[in-house]
Amino acid sequence: MKILIIEDEKVLADSLKLMLQSKGFEADAVYDGESGEQYAMLNIYDLIILDIMLPKQNGYQVAKHIRQQHNSVPILMLTARSDIDDKVHGLDSGADYYLTKPFDARELLACVNALLRRQGSQVNELGFGNTRLDMESASLICGDNSVRLSAREFEVMRMLMASGTNHISKETLLTKVWGYDSNAVENHVEVYVGFLRKKLVSIGSDVRIEAVRRLGYHLECDGKC
Ligand code: CA
Repeated sequence: MKILIIEDEKVLADSLKLMLQSKGFEADAVYDGESGEQYAMLNIYDLIILDIMLPKQNGYQVAKHIRQQHNSVPILMLTARSDIDDKVHGLDSGADYYLTKPFDARELLACVNALLRRQGSQVNELGFGNTRLDMESASLICGDNSVRLSAREFEVMRMLMASGTNHISKETLLTKVWGYDSNAVENHVEVYVGFLRKKLVSIGSDVRIEAVRRLGYHLECDGKC
């Protein structure tokens, strides 16, 4: 698996590169938007990690140009901005997923694995607490118990697991799972979180979906997470 990092903060770019290499990925780092686009067009990467604020060409432009070439490589956008307009703009430009800085290495790896999985690559589950989310069967598994999720429940759970103890806002869930031009409202997110809570309890999971006013949701568990 080959990953391209386009990030002008060299310390961050290089540490991401080392971290990904330590997990068995091949990784290249470039430090401006123009080189980033040239590298991306080589079509040799399985995933691109793309910053937004970049010299020469910003991340939105890079993503847009990549998609204009009908290149469907997964793009994970890194942003210091958490404003919904920026996220919508990023997704509109062709990004598949967002991570807001600062993020931790586990969160990044979970996203990388989830995106590669979507491309038909190797990683087939996410885990939190005593519970696993099996990507193949869209099931939550805890010990010998398991429960199937509907497509929307699965997408919401996948994003919650990828974020883990970090908050994920209702707007982000709404945008990513329902699409930003759908008629769904935040209440839909609450309803699906309710379904997921019941399913977690039904399999004896120690994972709890906690809601924090204005910040959104995060996961907690009773054991060691
Ligand atoms: Ca930057």
